[in-house]
Amino acid sequence: MREVIVVGAGPTGLMLAGELALAGVDVEVLERRSTAELVGTRARGFHARTIEILDQRGIADRFLAEGQTVPRLAFGATPLEIGELPTRHPYTLGLGQAGIEEILLGWVEELGVSLRRGVEVTGFGQDDQGVDVHLAGGTTARTAWLVGADGGRSVVRKAAGIEMVGAEPTRSLLIGEVAVTQELPEGIRLDEVGIHALSAMPDGTAGFVVTEPALSLAAEPTLEELRAALVAAFGTDLGAHEPRWMSRFTDATRQVVDYRRGRVLVAGDAAHVHPPTGGQGVGLGVQDAVNLGWKLGQVVRGDSPEGLLDTYRAERHPATARVLANVTTQAMMQRGDARTSALRETVADLLADPGTRARMAALLTGLDVALDLGEGHPLLGRRMPDLDLVTAAGPTRVCALLHDARAVLLDLAGGLEPGRWGGRVRHVAASAHGPWELPGVGPVPAPAGVLIRPDGHVAWVGDGTDAGLREALTSWCGPA
Ligand SMILES: Cc1cc2nc3c(=O)[nH]c(=O)nc-3n(C[C@H](O)[C@H](O)[C@H](O)COP(=O)(O)OP(=O)(O)OC[C@H]3O[C@@H](n4cnc5c(N)ncnc54)[C@H](O)[C@@H]3O)c2cc1C
Repeated sequence: MREVIVVGAGPTGLMLAGELALAGVDVEVLERRSTAELVGTRARGFHARTIEILDQRGIADRFLAEGQTVPRLAFGATPLEIGELPTRHPYTLGLGQAGIEEILLGWVEELGVSLRRGVEVTGFGQDDQGVDVHLAGGTTARTAWLVGADGGRSVVRKAAGIEMVGAEPTRSLLIGEVAVTQELPEGIRLDEVGIHALSAMPDGTAGFVVTEPALSLAAEPTLEELRAALVAAFGTDLGAHEPRWMSRFTDATRQVVDYRRGRVLVAGDAAHVHPPTGGQGVGLGVQDAVNLGWKLGQVVRGDSPEGLLDTYRAERHPATARVLANVTTQAMMQRGDARTSALRETVADLLADPGTRARMAALLTGLDVALDLGEGHPLLGRRMPDLDLVTAAGPTRVCALLHDARAVLLDLAGGLEPGRWGGRVRHVAASAHGPWELPGVGPVPAPAGVLIRPDGHVAWVGDGTDAGLREALTSWCGPA
């Protein structure tokens, strides 16, 4: 029996598999696609916190070498400069989903993860000891824990009976690439129906995102439907023929009520669906994976009780709900009628304020996620800044201490001891260099020590004593 089976080798499933492998878990990924090839473009990049997370595992450079960094993003039509954000990576990375998956795949292969392709999961049954995963063809695979990272139409989520709630779809959009016989109209259009954009692709085809004149929920769009949407938006079907690929998405925004049923969990698009506006999908999935991976690892190893898994929902549900609200707002503003124009103008006016812009940038980059770990120092629950450190062994930085996904007790004033948690926590005595500043918050007082969880969030802040440290170690690293 496997310790964990992950369904889906998209960005979430691959990241989670890597995290579990680092935790020493015997993990297997099952993927329906028989090759690594992706149909269509899908994600075109991700934001600063995702780059930081990859940096925490020592693989950010692989992504930065393949993509393009841009020191700005946008909320609706308002550009937000992010080059001054207090992070080592104050930019958005442009990189297609195929490239993202290829790099993650290389990483999990190095970590020895087993990945079976051409295997479709159709359902499961679970008992107290494990889960029987049902595969197309009638066979089963047995595992102690099952994670569905199988995308927005997740079979695992549906078989678990986990409900998704949120905003129902009001509009559908067609996306893809198609051969055309006419010149492309320029620019992005907004009308009463929604947003329409065409772009010339390097191979001479037209990339398109077109809002349909009427909502359709059918999974596979047809060429006739594309032509009708083009005529409604541009007055011509552009002679569209031979689509390279086509897909349909809606403005629905939904999130699971529970992230776990017994021995089954969901992550990434399987746990939340939303329009691609603002490019948040990969980052949300990676953050789910990095929040869940070490916790599930500790439960599998027997270091922590199962209750640790409840913190996955408690932490990721509110953080994701906040991002989904923002994505919904941005998607709502993609219309050209008088009411929506008024909303856009009001939002643009509010964003003229530098403080509002800074807060919005911190949210959109994912850098301001604040887990509710109780009252205390402003660092508590937030991601640890990647400060330069000087240790007895030489200079290093915070991210470098997290490469193996173990908790770190960073002792900045001396005198801290991990005690009986020494085997699970790396104790590092260091001096920190650089500003203690949090995105969207500002400068914070320098702590005397911090306990950093494997996902980079601060679980305890020292005031020069070790008050509360044992409790924090017990909560996050398991009973001594
Ligand atoms: C048009 C478009 C543009 C986007 N642009 C961006 C962007 O710019 N930035 C961004 O961050 N996000 C973007 N996204 C969202 C992003 O693509 C998703 O959020 C991201 O892919 C989610 O990753 P995931 O691993 O959770 O799910 P997926 O990428 O959907 O991966 C799920 C995997 O599970 C496999 N699978 C499914 N069912 C089964 C089964 N039953 N058995 C076995 N395997 C199965 C699938 O084959 C797939 O490989 C965009 C999405 C779309 C549609």
